[in-house]
Amino acid sequence: MAKSDNMGRIIDHKLFTEEDIHEICVRLGKQLTEDYAGKKPLVVGALKGAIYFLTDLTKQMDVEQQLDFIDVSSYGDGFESTGKIEIVHDLAADVAGRDVLIVEDIVDTGLTLKFMKDLLIERGAKSVKCCVLLDKEARRTTEVEVEYYGSKVGNEFVVGYGMDFLNMYRNLPYIGILKPEIIDKYIK
Ligand code: 5GP
Ligand code: MG
Ligand code: MG
Repeated sequence: MAKSDNMGRIIDHKLFTEEDIHEICVRLGKQLTEDYAGKKPLVVGALKGAIYFLTDLTKQMDVEQQLDFIDVSSYGDGFESTGKIEIVHDLAADVAGRDVLIVEDIVDTGLTLKFMKDLLIERGAKSVKCCVLLDKEARRTTEVEVEYYGSKVGNEFVVGYGMDFLNMYRNLPYIGILKPEIIDKYIK
């Protein structure tokens, strides 16, 4: 039986299929397995967007690790970063002396990632690197190093595989661009 795709009705076109995403996770997982061999990293997922990527990526990362989450919010409910960043939900773990790997869905202006990296360094992490699924490099307004990325993307608002519009559509198994009428329906 063909897999249902009711939610696909909101998508104008796909950018990354489930297969594309799987390939990215395998490639990045292999690299991280090599780079973190002999270490016991603390993997920090950036809620909520990174949860789908984090679960697939870490299954491909064959090293002992621990998991924690942080929720740092800058976006409000729309398309643009507000620039004002606050911790909505903090880590449970003490990062002092730890090799921390931040897992993030997408880097846009870079403000959110820079905020998280600075915070963890300030708290005494031994190393802080990040692995992002998508990199909107052309939109960067602040300098921040992205050590690992799945793919570069242009200046388009993407949804699916964790990434939302108004906290919806995260559960699409692929990544795509919304139909303009879906956006119009909510943004007047
Ligand atoms: P930044 O601080 O780099 O401008 O924003 C990063 C955050 O904004 C990401 O973690 C993500 O949650 C959200 N974001 C940036 N671009 C997009 C996008 O194209 N689609 C969605 N759904 N979220 C995005
Ligand atoms: Mg995010
Ligand atoms: Mg969001």
